Amino acid sequence: MVSTADITPHVLILGGTTESRLLAERLQARGDMAVTLSLAGRTAAPVTQPTHTRIGGFGGVEGLMRYIIDAKVACLIDATHPFATQISKNAREAVQRTHTPMVALSRPAWERQQGDLWTEVADMESAIEVLGHVPRRVFVTSGRQGLAGLLRAPQHHYWIRTVDRVEAPLDLPHAHYIVDVGPFTEESERAILISNGIDVIMAKNSGGAATYPKIAAARALRLPVVLIRRKESAASGAASDVETAFHQVLSVLGLGIERGV
Ligand code: NAP
Repeated sequence: MVSTADITPHVLILGGTTESRLLAERLQARGDMAVTLSLAGRTAAPVTQPTHTRIGGFGGVEGLMRYIIDAKVACLIDATHPFATQISKNAREAVQRTHTPMVALSRPAWERQQGDLWTEVADMESAIEVLGHVPRRVFVTSGRQGLAGLLRAPQHHYWIRTVDRVEAPLDLPHAHYIVDVGPFTEESERAILISNGIDVIMAKNSGGAATYPKIAAARALRLPVVLIRRKESAASGAASDVETAFHQVLSVLGLGIERGV
């Protein structure tokens, strides 16, 4: 006899974003699939997740393939951050080699609006170079990775905002650390920029609403933003919102829209 456990499809969501949590919640609420949300384990106190969660790397492509096979994953969803390129690359290779259907979800990049003073660069190193030699007051929101590069430009004053504390403070004469997690408001972002006399922002083009207010605040205050653009391949062919990804998953699994809540 075939048990329900044998026929309930298992969906693995590679997460770490607001969208991955929302998608997990929607799929889980239907009650006709098993949903596992996977987190890298970078954040010390991640937001409570709506579904069964596993934490930590898989061990490269081979490890991910092993998980897909052992856990009988019927659909892999890559809903990781657009700058998390390694795991996305691993996911593409693992599904190809295991012939597993995949759905990708990636929020669209922010688009330049009239009044934006952006300098777009390829990576953190170029962003630091663009700051120049003259000391500036920089609001750094590009995440913990790559911060060591700031050591090459110690002449600037940095306000570094991260989700988790920077464990080892950088050997910089002028560095201030802010630990905070979005969503932010334009009002609060303006307050940070004004009270600290910031004259340039360094950020990733992450897309989405939660961290956009700093971009809007910079526009309003006529402040320049050094924006690290994402790699082209990051979003190609991906669903741009949770709703679209949700329907793609149902289609992959051959499930009707009317089931669940
Ligand atoms: P990455 O460079 O693409 O991945 C590095 C390694 O971390 C992967 O090879 C994998 O290890 C592990 N990993 C990454 N995401 C995972 C997941 N969801 N579940 C299990 N293992 C995962 O990733 P990253 O840029 O360090 O980002 C790590 C996580 O933070 C991602 O889940 C991402 O969604 C989230 N995040 C990233 C950023 C960012 O700016 N990069 C911003 C916000 C949130 P193995 O090879 O051992 O499997």
